[in-house]
Amino acid sequence: MKNLFLTLGMTLVSASLIGCANEVATNAVSTNEVADERVLNLYSARHYETDQTLYDNFTGQTGIEINLIEGKEDELLERLKSEGDNSPADLFITVDVGRLWKADSAGLFQPVKSDALESAIPDNLRHPGGHWFGLTQRARVIVYNPETVDPSTDLSTYEALTDPKWEGRVCIRSSSNIYNQSLMGSLITNLGPEAASEWAEGMVNNFAREPEGGDTDQIRGVAAGVCDVAIANHYYYARLVKSDKPEDQSVAAATAVFFPNQGEGDRGTHVNISGAGVLAHAPHPDSAVAFLEYLITPEAQAIFARGNNEYPVVEGVEVDPVVAELGDFKTDSASISDFGEKNSEALIIFDEAGWK
Ligand code: FE
Repeated sequence: MKNLFLTLGMTLVSASLIGCANEVATNAVSTNEVADERVLNLYSARHYETDQTLYDNFTGQTGIEINLIEGKEDELLERLKSEGDNSPADLFITVDVGRLWKADSAGLFQPVKSDALESAIPDNLRHPGGHWFGLTQRARVIVYNPETVDPSTDLSTYEALTDPKWEGRVCIRSSSNIYNQSLMGSLITNLGPEAASEWAEGMVNNFAREPEGGDTDQIRGVAAGVCDVAIANHYYYARLVKSDKPEDQSVAAATAVFFPNQGEGDRGTHVNISGAGVLAHAPHPDSAVAFLEYLITPEAQAIFARGNNEYPVVEGVEVDPVVAELGDFKTDSASISDFGEKNSEALIIFDEAGWK
């Protein structure tokens, strides 16, 4: 009986999802009939005005029209799973390797072989089999209060934030967040599960408060004196610097960014990606690969990265001036693909440490 209700429930869910998908499907149906039609059905979790410039430029250069479906990261992922073989989607763009890894584990992507993508994107920022490719980088940095923290003597590594001197002084968001899960994945990869567990426990001991809010709220916590240090993605700080709201500007003015693990022989700051993969049932895989190859051109890299104040993946592309102000830094060169793979282990470690 329980199973019957489950089945019924799922049928209803699929029915409503198919309802939503029809907007795309109208385009996709005709393209299935004319296989070489110049169309790209793009599912994107990015919502930046600058992205429209990219789509227009791509269409201008290739004649390939883009049908854009925007949604929240996890919603798009669920939608792709529900659509299954019937999905009209060609390419899925999302943030964080943890989500790309989840999509890949669900069999959503197909392998892509492209010399252009392989030579432009560093090995550690793409799936080894071409299932997904990193397009921009985001650094998970330490944000501190320069009034109470001297970066030259007080700050060094993520690991050092577990020192008892930080007791009651650290803000960081919940472990349910994918950014923290991937950071934990990097610690498991680089230091081993035992040291990663110790890190989680040490951090929990030093929390200024129970985890709440997003990355920006952690930076606000530092500015408000709730904590002296926080961990956040760098672009949230850049966003506050650029904000025209006086309250945001004063938060930015009261805080500063530190890139951890820069010491001689140390591994570098944890970076994650915005990335994309060609879907297993893509009706127009050639269009999807063409768009990926367009996104790694210097022109597109500059626009794509600036949309969210991120770092390009392609070397030699200029970064946004506010982001450039943060300075150069060394990034962790471990394969981020491994960080996604450690996701379930990361969840267990957080849970055992009592990191909400
Ligand atoms: Fe974010």
